[in-house]
Amino acid sequence: MHRDTQILNAGHLPVKEPGVMVEGPQFVSTFVTPGDPAQHAFTYGRFENPTWRPWEEALGVLEGGDAVAFASGMAAASAVLGVTLRPGDAVVLPAESYYTIRTLASTWLEAIGVEVRLAPTRGEGQADALAGAKLLWLETPSNPHLDVCDIATLTAAAHAAGALVAVDNTTATGYLQQPLALGADYVVASDTKAVTGHADLILGHVASRDPARVATLRDWRTRHGAIPGPMEVWLAHRSLATLPLRLNCQCASAVRLAEFLSSHSAAKAVHYPGLPTHPGHATAKRQMRAFGGVVSFDLGDRVRAERFMGALSLVREATSFGGVHSTAERRARWGGDAIGEGFIRFSVGCEAVQDILADVEAGLRAAAI
Ligand code: PLP
Repeated sequence: MHRDTQILNAGHLPVKEPGVMVEGPQFVSTFVTPGDPAQHAFTYGRFENPTWRPWEEALGVLEGGDAVAFASGMAAASAVLGVTLRPGDAVVLPAESYYTIRTLASTWLEAIGVEVRLAPTRGEGQADALAGAKLLWLETPSNPHLDVCDIATLTAAAHAAGALVAVDNTTATGYLQQPLALGADYVVASDTKAVTGHADLILGHVASRDPARVATLRDWRTRHGAIPGPMEVWLAHRSLATLPLRLNCQCASAVRLAEFLSSHSAAKAVHYPGLPTHPGHATAKRQMRAFGGVVSFDLGDRVRAERFMGALSLVREATSFGGVHSTAERRARWGGDAIGEGFIRFSVGCEAVQDILADVEAGLRAAAI
């Protein structure tokens, strides 16, 4: 079946099964378990919850592996770092990986004696930092510049150097890019973004094709307690059915927005892997189904960027990305990223594209005054 149909049905009850078409969430901490606990599939809500199973099955279809659901993207990322790294190990991170992952590395990882090496995503820059490393962490397209690296090439180089590979797939999602099929050992994602896509949930997951690694991640989750709530998981599964619909719309509109911005004199630089001028375009075309719903651009300085944001009447000023509502922000207001004061990260939603373009045009007019 077509991949869109597979994702729509992933983790749902068999088509011919009589009874409820969609099961509801099960709110439970405690199961009645007479006798030997090993005889019971469910014992205690931190170990397992019946609502996690269909969600993890669906995530497995999305990523092409076995998935473990976590309470947030950071809980998922921390689990991979926690199960792979020990004092004395080295990890290679993209210099532009999600800011909190770099903060976690420079605080917690360095404090326990892990060497943290930062290298650029662009031009496969991380390949030069692999000697003796235990883990290579990739994020492609990266945040917020949307730089792209070749997952298969870097994974082969890492494995040859004896390192494991984890890919943060948040920006692309498993619908647009499948790192496990390209050889990665782990794929990590924040499901807070496009996977669920309605700006109402915080969730994350890790997937792998190695059953021992998956079992270790489950143990980590049980012991550290970063478990997702059944209501969140149920809502997330409901949202996943429309992921192909949403993302196809967002990607098509993002291409239109990137082209429009490229033709406009107020935008000093436009970053979008779907533009043929983007340095990672050929790689993105090879390893992604489409180029994603995030577009970044630079308006030159803070005043222009703030005028742009202030003039928007459809696009909301908000951080995060991947939702059905378009959002944008002047990214430098947070600090922490090597970007100019006029840098805008724009997340394209599912509104009619002409409305998005009209709003952006009004913003650019205000910015150029
Ligand atoms: N990875 C990337 C690329 C992100 O953008 C984010 C959040 O913005 C995370 C991980 C962390 O996800 P969460 O906020 O769900 O913990």
